Amino acid sequence: MFVSVLGTKPVPKTVSRANLHDVKIVWNDGHESLYIARDLRLRCPCAVCVEEMSGRPLLDPDSVARDVHPLGISLVGKYAIHIQWSDGHSTGIYTFDSLRRLCACPSCAS
Ligand SMILES: [Zn+2]
Ligand SMILES: [Zn+2]
Repeated sequence: MFVSVLGTKPVPKTVSRANLHDVKIVWNDGHESLYIARDLRLRCPCAVCVEEMSGRPLLDPDSVARDVHPLGISLVGKYAIHIQWSDGHSTGIYTFDSLRRLCACPSCAS
C-alpha cells in the first residue's frame, strides 16, 4: 500500500448511475469516467476475487452474469467506494486511485 496525499489526487465529486447498469464518476478536477458495470465487477480487488499475495485472479469471468450491476454504491472513508453487486458479491472496495486508473476515456486510454 502506498499513502495517498490528500489534496493532490483527484477524488470523485459525484458517483452515480450512468444508466441501469453502468457507473459514472465526476472527479473534482472536472474529469468524467464511465465504468461498464461488468468490467468493474471483473476488476473487483477483494481477497475472494484476487489472491492477495500474488495478485493472481481467482474470479472466473465466465461465472459472472452478463447483466451484473450495482445494487448499491457507498463511500468508504475518503479514499474508496464499496459496491454491492446484483450477484450477491459485496466485499469489493474500489479505491479512488484504482478507479482513476481504470478510466477508459479517450484521454486516459491514450
Ligand atoms: Zn471481489
Ligand atoms: Zn479518463
